[in-house]
Amino acid sequence: MNTVMVIEDEEAIATLLSYNLEKEGYKVIVVSNGANAVLEVDKHRPSVIILDWMLPEISGVEICKLIRSKPEIKAIPIIMLTAKSQEEDKVKGLIAGADDYVTKPFSVPELMARVKTNMRRAPLFEEKEKFISFKDISMDLVEKKVRRGDVNIHLSPTEFRLLKMLVKEPGKVFSREVLLKSVWGENIFVESRTVDVHIRRLRSSLNKYGPDYIRTVRANGYAIDEIIENNEEKDCDSDCE
Ligand code: CA
Repeated sequence: MNTVMVIEDEEAIATLLSYNLEKEGYKVIVVSNGANAVLEVDKHRPSVIILDWMLPEISGVEICKLIRSKPEIKAIPIIMLTAKSQEEDKVKGLIAGADDYVTKPFSVPELMARVKTNMRRAPLFEEKEKFISFKDISMDLVEKKVRRGDVNIHLSPTEFRLLKMLVKEPGKVFSREVLLKSVWGENIFVESRTVDVHIRRLRSSLNKYGPDYIRTVRANGYAIDEIIENNEEKDCDSDCE
């Protein structure tokens, strides 16, 4: 799943951005403290960074320079958010190494379009984790192998990506739209029903060897979770629309 890091001290803007980026299918990490920003970038290795110009303690421009000076993270596209619209400041932002800039107040669709464009230039980091697991299901992200207990499970690449999204964030409910965008990509036309078809295949491959941990959240999507009795009929809670 592509991650966008939002470095912004204003909570209202950070919340607005998180909401919209998550709707687009991105994983979002918000950093509100400029002093931690470079460390957090190094730790999470996001695909794209949205960086506010005006931060307490350290300016966005300084953070940008620091990121560009570190070989491991310097290729990450940075979109600078700035309240200053003067030409001179824009130029300074670009000199500091930002790939793009958006002036506040910004239009959300425009910023989302910029994120998408910059996402294409995101560096391919090696998977930080080689292995992830949930209960007895374990995934080797490098070798692209899945095991359940001692059994090797053969999955199609699509089912592998679906399972990886679920296993990376157990308990989180992913809508069909988010799964579509993340697993199939933005520009491929597939119906949301396609997700159900692949989840069904995933279940039939996995469930021969153990209980069904994939939870259907009615009218919403899917999660991987502790086994729930009466899986399909779970009551709607706050997750439901
Ligand atoms: Ca700010």
